Amino acid sequence: MDHDLPPTLANWREAPRVRALNAARPVRASRYVLCWLQQALRAVDNPVIDAAIRLGNAHGLPVLVYHGVREDYPFASDRLHRFVLGASRDLGRECRARGLSCVQFVDRAAKRERGLVYRLAEHAAAVVLEDQPAFVAQWQAERFAARAQGAVFAVNAACVVPPAAIEQGVGTTSAFRRRHERVRETWYGWVDEVSDAGPYAGPLPYEPDLLADLDDPALDALVATCAIDHALPPSALFPATRAEVAARLVRLRDEVLPAYAGARNNASRPEGASTLSPYLHFGVVGPREIVAAAQAADVEPDARGKFLDELGTWREWFHYKARTMPVPESFARVPAWARRELAEHAGDARPELETLAALVAGETADETWNACQKQYLLDGWMHNNLRMYWAKRVIAMTPSPETGWATACYLNDRLSLDGRDPSTYGNLAWAFGDAAPGYGRRPIYGLVSTRTDASIRKQVGGPAWIARAAGRETLRLAVPAEPPVDPYLSGVAPI
Ligand SMILES: Cc1cc2nc3c(=O)[nH]c(=O)nc-3n(C[C@H](O)[C@H](O)[C@H](O)COP(=O)(O)OP(=O)(O)OC[C@H]3O[C@@H](n4cnc5c(N)ncnc54)[C@H](O)[C@@H]3O)c2cc1C
Repeated sequence: MDHDLPPTLANWREAPRVRALNAARPVRASRYVLCWLQQALRAVDNPVIDAAIRLGNAHGLPVLVYHGVREDYPFASDRLHRFVLGASRDLGRECRARGLSCVQFVDRAAKRERGLVYRLAEHAAAVVLEDQPAFVAQWQAERFAARAQGAVFAVNAACVVPPAAIEQGVGTTSAFRRRHERVRETWYGWVDEVSDAGPYAGPLPYEPDLLADLDDPALDALVATCAIDHALPPSALFPATRAEVAARLVRLRDEVLPAYAGARNNASRPEGASTLSPYLHFGVVGPREIVAAAQAADVEPDARGKFLDELGTWREWFHYKARTMPVPESFARVPAWARRELAEHAGDARPELETLAALVAGETADETWNACQKQYLLDGWMHNNLRMYWAKRVIAMTPSPETGWATACYLNDRLSLDGRDPSTYGNLAWAFGDAAPGYGRRPIYGLVSTRTDASIRKQVGGPAWIARAAGRETLRLAVPAEPPVDPYLSGVAPI
């Protein structure tokens, strides 16, 4: 059921980003407006913060930005935790620069809190949280909103064009592209709202972690105290800082965009990839900041257009689609014809079966696949073109279509910094059954199209690159015999 927005949000140019999750109204006699961030870990171009500031200003209250991290979310590891806490630290620093208070809570044995976000909400005029259609942020927001007594608003910060601003029920990517292109430019600009009340300095129901005050060794030490997978290290390629984002935006403008159209499909050419996806996934940068950098590039419109199509159409299509699904992470989202085809061929001989341990380690019989997998395992990211081959091949390397899906999700979500995203499951669904059946029927795949490694091997320097990438020393991780099936249904309570 849709609920009305208060005038300060209803009259805002960003109003289509906002949903009232209940019928409660903001309460004036409160300490602050609580802005609960889960994944949009940035203080600029952040509509969640802006909506909270607007409510705060309407009620003469400051905004309290809060970010809590549990240690028991699926696949919690040093890699993910260090990235999240690094991003949260810069969020805290940028909030200070913007005149806002930002407090964190990092769950660990030495410091436990129960129901902290509910206790923070007791003193809030309203709670503003994120509208994210997948993984932990979604479960937590839903569970919180179902129990919260006060007003709760969900705000989309992930997309340039809020999904609600596009007509509902669009069924194909091309139809979505047409609608998105028609309106996207009207959403490119943004205004960071200014809080009239300044930072919140009153009492809190707990002793906060102030990540903004920590240096790198202190942040590393904090991660070391958490009960998470310490065998999977942080990625050296992806420091979680806003300075790193700024450097990548300059690189996007000066190096990536001029080469993008020609180099995008060649994994051996670094200028073919912006490598921004981990930063987008955790909201360290918003898509509008990236568009602004792309607009500043001195390149042919076609070069920019291809990039904006990936960032605008494809990424936002998967966000739009995920909103319509009860469990966007589930195998059930694969088109019915493709599930039928794969089921009909489930009994076919599978001579290329691999164990989950061999898959994780990138030690299969397929050298190209190993080269791809080593990027996920060692770097926490994989080149776009490789992902297509990698995902299609998982189907033949696993005992059943359902196990194949669970395996692909497990590898993507455990290892990749940009995993657990609407783009993860949307793209995997493409690999398990594109929009329409292919032509030739094949063992195991039926009419689901396959992919060879020819497009990778035929690139100049391709074979040498594959040999080098596959030959990187692996990392030994604890791996279960079977991938977890639907770890997404268990949920993780808000903290
Ligand atoms: C099987 C498979 C699994 C994937 N899993 C993920 C995932 O877990 N998380 C994720 O963010 N992306 C995923 N992608 C999409 C894409 O491969 C990555 O977004 C891209 O490779 C990230 O690198 P980049 O930032 O250098 O991309 P660039 O080429 O520089 O593109 C810029 C941005 O556009 C967006 N984008 C580009 N291609 C796609 C696409 N096909 N679908 C949606 N958005 C796109 C991304 O946000 C990306 O950061 C997957 C693709 C496939 C085929």
